[in-house]
Amino acid sequence: MELQSPKVTHHNYHFLLSAIALLLGFNLLYILRLNAKKRRKSKEIERKLSNDAVNGGLQLTEAGGNIDVIIVGAGVAGAALACTLAKVRCSNSNLSNRLIFASTVLISMIHDSDLSFPSDGRRVHVIERDLTEPDRIVGELLQPGGYLKLIELGLEDCVDGIEAQQVFGYAIYMDGRNTKLSYPLEKFESDISGRSFHNGRFIQRMREKAASLPNVKLEQGTVTSLFEKNGTVQGVYYKTKDGQTMTAHAPLTIVCDGCFSNLRRALCKPKVEVPSCFVGLVLKNVDLPYANHGHVILADPSPILFYPISNTEVRCLVDVPGQKVPSIANGEMANYLKTVVAPQIPNELYDAFVSAVDKGNIRAMPNRSMPADPQPTPGALLMGDAFNMRHPLTGGGMTVALSDIVLLRDLLRPLRNLNDPTTLCNYLECFYTLRKATGVVYDKHVGGCSIQGLNPSPVSTFLRCGYIRCRPSPDPGASGIIFPIIKSEGVRQMFFPATIPAYYKSPQVA
Ligand SMILES: Cc1cc2nc3c(=O)[nH]c(=O)nc-3n(C[C@H](O)[C@H](O)[C@H](O)COP(=O)(O)OP(=O)(O)OC[C@H]3O[C@@H](n4cnc5c(N)ncnc54)[C@H](O)[C@@H]3O)c2cc1C
Repeated sequence: MELQSPKVTHHNYHFLLSAIALLLGFNLLYILRLNAKKRRKSKEIERKLSNDAVNGGLQLTEAGGNIDVIIVGAGVAGAALACTLAKVRCSNSNLSNRLIFASTVLISMIHDSDLSFPSDGRRVHVIERDLTEPDRIVGELLQPGGYLKLIELGLEDCVDGIEAQQVFGYAIYMDGRNTKLSYPLEKFESDISGRSFHNGRFIQRMREKAASLPNVKLEQGTVTSLFEKNGTVQGVYYKTKDGQTMTAHAPLTIVCDGCFSNLRRALCKPKVEVPSCFVGLVLKNVDLPYANHGHVILADPSPILFYPISNTEVRCLVDVPGQKVPSIANGEMANYLKTVVAPQIPNELYDAFVSAVDKGNIRAMPNRSMPADPQPTPGALLMGDAFNMRHPLTGGGMTVALSDIVLLRDLLRPLRNLNDPTTLCNYLECFYTLRKATGVVYDKHVGGCSIQGLNPSPVSTFLRCGYIRCRPSPDPGASGIIFPIIKSEGVRQMFFPATIPAYYKSPQVA
């Protein structure tokens, strides 16, 4: 068969010309950008020298040297965040991604903002008060939406090897009747479901993962306060394990010190409510009536939860209204559990429940809730429970924290240089605006909220953030922030969320 040389059609010719024009334009813009960058650099050096002169050459001890981000606390939020910010993401080299990359670089050139992809792989200093495995009754059931976020962060292997149990939905008990509500996971692979586990094992896996990254310094120490200068947080003061007082510096400090946060007062006005307490027990060697399901007993005066946390253990959490609960120490609590709670427990679990009460390992935790009320502070950000707490009955605290981490990662990725406080502050403000939309949707849906909750309507997110940031002043930085988010969320997710399997509706609890 004779091979024919391809014909150069008009169409091909125009395509070639356009490609050459695009390349030339690209080169020209690149040169312009290089020049702009040089100018900016010399201004930065000037500014730094003059600052040093103003400070009289004051030098503060830097723990660990050039750090991009300090993270206070290595719980669920802090450990996941450290892994995420420190990881260098593999560049995806398919054609559409390269085109998106090129157009984003063009946008950044036009706005003369310091953008480039990818910019994860930050140097992270994590300071955690206690690096031993936590033993707590919190954060043991990760909703499917949270597991999806874990996958998005590349941390799904942190639930491997810890006897994590798959959770496919809830069984609801009321007035002697019960029904099973499954998560709507039909469109997902069988691996996608909730996960329940020992919180400490999960956290330890994430800490190990963070510590294995060369650009993470995970140190045991207690942060005592934020180090602020001219209204900008520039780092933290902390006490090392051996009692030495140190200062760590970084352009960005992320406070993830949990529900009892001491540091959040510097960054928001916390309005913490404690409507009830959870009293925790572990039931051994008992099968739940519905395997791989959480069990919610709508009891009097308030709910009781059961879910598996390992191959042989079931967690029981009893919600006890009020801040002052019967004393564990003097046996009042055991009495309350046996006389008020036990009669309402399903028959299959009754013996194991009473035996757990008799064993005496009863724990209590206040159920706190605190709406997010950030006061954007240059150089600092709150995350996890330090920032926002939802009633633990919603089982969504970890999901929200992981969701926020995905958002922050995508938001900060294009920002290579964190050292410009004004630009950074714009990004941080945008983070608060974007995640606020998440919270609004979340709080309106208790029950199946945890899935729906982490998938706020991206349209409303986009409108809120885009509108709020762009309208008051034609700030070129705003579009530079929004476009990469559209890129990372995807146009379809942004504008047609209902067509994306992950954006599904919460089950209707009648
Ligand atoms: C009873 C109860 C049950 C819950 N159950 C669930 C559930 O089933 N599913 C769910 O998704 N969520 C649940 N939650 C919520 C969930 O536990 C939290 O949302 C989650 O743990 C928040 O993670 P975090 O990293 O912000 O805080 P934490 O995981 O508490 O981590 C904070 C870390 O900061 C460290 N730290 C504190 N102060 C300092 C300091 N000054 N310096 C250095 N380090 C410091 C601490 O040692 C700790 O390691 C529950 C909460 C409660 C109270």
